[in-house]
Amino acid sequence: MTSSSKKQRNIEKMALQMINERGDEGILQSDLWKLIGVSSREGSRIAIRLEKKKLVRREREYHSKRWTYRLYPVKRNHPLLPVIYSPCIICANNSKCSVEGVVSPLNCRRLIEWVLKTG
Ligand code: SF4
Repeated sequence: MTSSSKKQRNIEKMALQMINERGDEGILQSDLWKLIGVSSREGSRIAIRLEKKKLVRREREYHSKRWTYRLYPVKRNHPLLPVIYSPCIICANNSKCSVEGVVSPLNCRRLIEWVLKTG
C-alpha cells in the first residue's frame, strides 16, 4: 500500500467514525470536511466511496441556500472499529463527552489516534 493510499484509507476511517458518532442526526458533508481538514472536492470523493461500500447513506438537503448532502451511518460500530477497544471505555471524561459538548469525540485526539491505528 502506498503512503497516499494509506493516508486516504485513514481519512476514510476517520470520516466513517465521525458519521457513526452522529447517528440518526447525520452530519452535513461540509461540516465533516471542515472537521477532518480536507477540501470539499476530496471530501465528496470520500463520501461517494463510503456510499459505494454501503457504509454510509447520503441524502440531499437544502442548506444555507444551496443543495448539499447529509451523511448518515448505515451500520453503527462497523467491525473495523471495535468500540470495546476504544479509549472511551476507560476514559475519565466519558460521562461528560458528547458530540455537542465541550468534551467531544469530534475533537478528541485520543479517539482520532485510535481510529487511525484501528484496522
Ligand atoms: S471521545 Fe475522547 S474524551 Fe470522549 S470519551 Fe472517548 S476518549 Fe474520552
